[in-house]
Amino acid sequence: MQGEIIAVGSELLLGQIANTNAAYLSRQAALLGVDIFRHTVVGDNKDRLRQLLIEALSRSEVILITGGLGPTKDDITRETIAETLGIPLIEDETSLLHIRQFFQQRGIAMSQNNQKQAMIPQGAVVLRNPSGTAPGFVVEKDGKEIVVLPGPPSELRMMFENSVVPYFKEKCQGEEKVILSRILKFWGIGESKIDEALSDLFEAGSNHSIAYLFQNCEVQVRITAKGKNSNEALRMIAGVEKIIRARIGKYLFGADDDTVAEIVGRELKEQKMKIAVAESCTGGLLGSLITDTPGSSEFFEGGFITYSNDAKQSMVGVSKKTIGEYGPVSQEAAAKMAEGAAKNSGAQIGISITGIAGPGGSEKDKPVGLVYIGLYWKGKTYVEKHLFMGSRERIKYSAAITALHVVRKFLQSGNHF
Ligand code: ATP
Repeated sequence: MQGEIIAVGSELLLGQIANTNAAYLSRQAALLGVDIFRHTVVGDNKDRLRQLLIEALSRSEVILITGGLGPTKDDITRETIAETLGIPLIEDETSLLHIRQFFQQRGIAMSQNNQKQAMIPQGAVVLRNPSGTAPGFVVEKDGKEIVVLPGPPSELRMMFENSVVPYFKEKCQGEEKVILSRILKFWGIGESKIDEALSDLFEAGSNHSIAYLFQNCEVQVRITAKGKNSNEALRMIAGVEKIIRARIGKYLFGADDDTVAEIVGRELKEQKMKIAVAESCTGGLLGSLITDTPGSSEFFEGGFITYSNDAKQSMVGVSKKTIGEYGPVSQEAAAKMAEGAAKNSGAQIGISITGIAGPGGSEKDKPVGLVYIGLYWKGKTYVEKHLFMGSRERIKYSAAITALHVVRKFLQSGNHF
């Protein structure tokens, strides 16, 4: 089945909130065998929603609509759908009772306009909303299914799982299709190399497809497969994954929700080691990424934000001489910072970052984006030099993620520099 998602709300168009409902609905629709071909956002405007709905009805079998079911004047979804389909709105008694109880239980007087939330297109299947006031509904028109859900993500998710999934399962009995995806994450290989290595697989088979995404200096390859059931889809994914691993497996570092910070944490715990950081241009970002993993106190000792030259001297022992001779952004300073981080905290491993995040601060031989990453372990130091591109924020993020990969590679290679 072909489907599309329409999110209603001017705040989405203004960029005040991200359209996370569409992302959620796409993932869930795939599990029901609905291929989503379009996401559209429309403001709280009747004419534009009507126009969009007419277009959607001309090309999609399933239309998922979210938002605009509230009680206020700018909530126009319910009325616009009814008008466009030429179906009258009628009061659903059970929904009205639920709305009344919702307010009673909270000791709040129900305002008159909440009553309009119980208005449902005639003949529609009502989707109960256990945690809010606005019910959703599914209305059928010329064999097309229009599923309408409220905007608040927690309400939408609960209603999708409790009501929309059973609705579609019953409808599609005997012709169930499942679409599943797996993401493989790579480090140290660029998009063009991946393209070269996997070009034949990118030409989608009838039941699987491959896509890639470059994010945070990592390349993600997504394998999607469609099967009669989960087992069939998973078997297809495993077959494609095997081929990919055989070709570029040496760059693979994780899958699905794995993050490099989590992998580093796992490795450190297994090896019973602790890490400490000394950060200059990243200003604590590396420590922050490490502590995103729950339980990080087991492997993270702490850190030093050594932004100024004085801090580099007093906190992690980078000498005046080193700074004078080589500068604070240098291989020598990075090595000393890593050593100082470990020695001054009592951690076995020290990791450092020093660089120029820009936009100012570049020198003749030291352009914006130049970053040194140092690693100290058992009396030895190793330093990598990088040149990152992009905004200040981008450079900081790239440096912190790269530092995590430096530690990951060290830990996964049997502690070799
Ligand atoms: P309500 O009864 O709360 O007014 P509603 O169906 O009218 O429900 P909206 O008013 O459109 O929903 O949105 C309510 C809130 O839900 C928004 O302020 C926003 O926080 C969240 N929201 C709405 N649409 C989306 C979306 N597409 N993705 C993520 N969050 C959303």
